Amino acid sequence: MLKELYAMPDGLLDAGAEQLEQLLDGPTLLHLPGRQPEPLFVTVLLHGNETTGLHALQMLLNDYRDSVLPRSLSVFIGNVSAARLGQRRLDEQADFNRIWPGTTTPEVPEAAMMQQVEDRMRELAAFASIDIHNNTGINPHYACINRVDNRSLQLAALFSRTVVYFTRPLGVQSMAMSALCPAVTIECGKPDQEYGARHARDFLDAVLRLREFPQHAVASHDVDLYHTVASVHVPEALGFSFGDEAADLQLVANLDHLNFRELPAGTLLGRVRAGVVMPLEVRDENDQSVFEHYFTVADGVLRNARAFMPSMFTLDARIIRQDCLGYLMERLLPE
Ligand SMILES: [Zn+2]
Repeated sequence: MLKELYAMPDGLLDAGAEQLEQLLDGPTLLHLPGRQPEPLFVTVLLHGNETTGLHALQMLLNDYRDSVLPRSLSVFIGNVSAARLGQRRLDEQADFNRIWPGTTTPEVPEAAMMQQVEDRMRELAAFASIDIHNNTGINPHYACINRVDNRSLQLAALFSRTVVYFTRPLGVQSMAMSALCPAVTIECGKPDQEYGARHARDFLDAVLRLREFPQHAVASHDVDLYHTVASVHVPEALGFSFGDEAADLQLVANLDHLNFRELPAGTLLGRVRAGVVMPLEVRDENDQSVFEHYFTVADGVLRNARAFMPSMFTLDARIIRQDCLGYLMERLLPE
């Protein structure tokens, strides 16, 4: 099922994300040689509507059109079917960033392909792994890690001083790859922002040029490290809205402006229709329901019960139903 290529296919540098399915005929692992043999592994379009990774890759490879890459590069171009339609995933598909080794759904057919990709990158002794994403709310650019160790933090800090450590959801690319090499997921803002692609391109180039990772710790004043402590979903059975429109759960209109801000306890987050007991499904890293730990509802008003910092809160109804409303984070001090 996995297709591998050892030379750049014609047209790749100029193709739009929606043209890749026709060009590549499915998810593709592309290997390009460089001076250092252990490849940098990069994944783009695990979510079909998140096009910044493709644009960054195209800019990078265009820069090296007439010269040898400083290090070999292996690129996995993921959900090209969803990319054709500008969607995160097709309704009948698994989410391509929830089915890597360690996933809770190893039985889905695409999970076998991700296992193959990881096996292949193990054989090739991957130097580092970068999975490139966008999000739909208002967020800074940041890097996510799944292990708090010097090499992971060094890699993350090359992209951004904002670093998020998370252990849920399971089955994400960076979590699987962190078993082999330093691995990050980078979040580059919204897909249509040119500076997101430039930032990702510069980061890829910096890692390609890196001979080895410094062993020493990243200075604590060089990174703002956060720990994702819970995910937040809207229960399937509840309707929701933003702003003035009445619904079971009526969230504040600017919810995504709260991302990466320390919210003091008692911040107004929305209104809840009478009779709705638990308007949000909030799960911690052990998959325990922790709504009451983080939120309160009194007189039909939803507030946070304690201080936290949200990330990836989105107003996009489709993303909220397909993925989640967002995440809650707390500050973590590196050791
Ligand atoms: Zn994504």
